[in-house]
Amino acid sequence: MQLKTILNRVQRHPSFVYEGVHLVEGDRPRLEVDVRARANSRPCCSGCGQPGPGYDTLGVRRFEFVPLWGMAVFLVYAMRRVDCGGCGVRVERVPWATGKHTLTTTYAWFLASWARRLSWKEVAEVFRTSWDKVFAAVEMAVEWGRAHQDLAGIRAIGVDEIAWQRGHRYLTVVYQIDEGCRRLLWVGEDRTVRTLLRFFQWLGAERSALLAFICSDMWKPYLKVIARKAAQAVHVLDRFHIMAHLSKAIDKVRAAEARELKAKGYEPVLKNTRWLLLKRPENLTEKQEPRLAELVRYNLRSVRAYLLKEDFQFFWDYVSPYWAGQFLDRWCTRTMRSRLEPMKKVARMLRSHRPLLLNWFRAKRAISGGAVEGFNNKAKLTLRKAYGFRTFRAMEIALYHTLGALPEPQVTHRFC
Ligand SMILES: [Zn+2]
Repeated sequence: MQLKTILNRVQRHPSFVYEGVHLVEGDRPRLEVDVRARANSRPCCSGCGQPGPGYDTLGVRRFEFVPLWGMAVFLVYAMRRVDCGGCGVRVERVPWATGKHTLTTTYAWFLASWARRLSWKEVAEVFRTSWDKVFAAVEMAVEWGRAHQDLAGIRAIGVDEIAWQRGHRYLTVVYQIDEGCRRLLWVGEDRTVRTLLRFFQWLGAERSALLAFICSDMWKPYLKVIARKAAQAVHVLDRFHIMAHLSKAIDKVRAAEARELKAKGYEPVLKNTRWLLLKRPENLTEKQEPRLAELVRYNLRSVRAYLLKEDFQFFWDYVSPYWAGQFLDRWCTRTMRSRLEPMKKVARMLRSHRPLLLNWFRAKRAISGGAVEGFNNKAKLTLRKAYGFRTFRAMEIALYHTLGALPEPQVTHRFC
């Protein structure tokens, strides 16, 4: 069987013919496949797609195809130019690649699908190509997917922020969190009022008016924009974010206390206790459990803060917003008397957002719990795996690619 036969099987283009296939020796041997236009076929204009009379023929270009037996494969073709009635003299459009890409569309989709399983650097290494080419492939896949995705029926969204560049800069991310359809919808630079306004502009007024539930953190700019752009939606303060605020407060209490104890020359009882205090009791390891029990014997500020946080977990188990509200008020009163400044700060914050907090119980059944937290972890993992993402564009593309659940075109042959 000849390679030409296989090529015609996996990727046939009616107006073009595969001619010879030859092996080019060297450090990195490669297969080159000559492609020519069928006799009497008219080139199509790359501007408007219409066939027109040929103008001239340019030098050959190489388009990288899916590698075979560890060897790079190139389609070699001399591009024609079209004398187009509407656009003037233009280079022709070829069915195996778009624009100025040197990757064939098939190869780009091949690399992009591997980039979901491996880091971009690994994909580049495995297929002996460059990071930039993998990026270009993923970018193409994301652009296609975003142009073809279905945005109908979005009822619940979650708004979240992610720190990047060691916490100096932020991204705003918006997820769809409907039961049954969860995906990343949008990524924006920064976390200002303007950032989130851009999301609503992208979503459009009609679809924004259909939103029924919005989950977010207590970050002011978000609260402001949501109230303005989707006033009809039940705005819920997300459980995951509230608990994160409490964990941060415990961390502050613990750090200050540890410094103090050390300065006064006491035993370092708080050494290596950070995770003991931040973990849920059921997640503690066998070694950690007795350590926590021992720690609780001391009447430490850190321990009191920890117990307040653990107590707050009961809040989420309520069914009725009324009784949840009663619990919240009691918890806040107790915390305000605790003389733990970071905890009091959280209590004040919770008090001032009481109605939004209680919305959690109104939305409980409609939105998928823990969805924002799940996405937050996956997004952080994506960014961590992606060394070399120094630009916003690369991060945005990586996030859409892994979390966007984007559609792909139907193809006759799947290469991977
Ligand atoms: Zn044209």
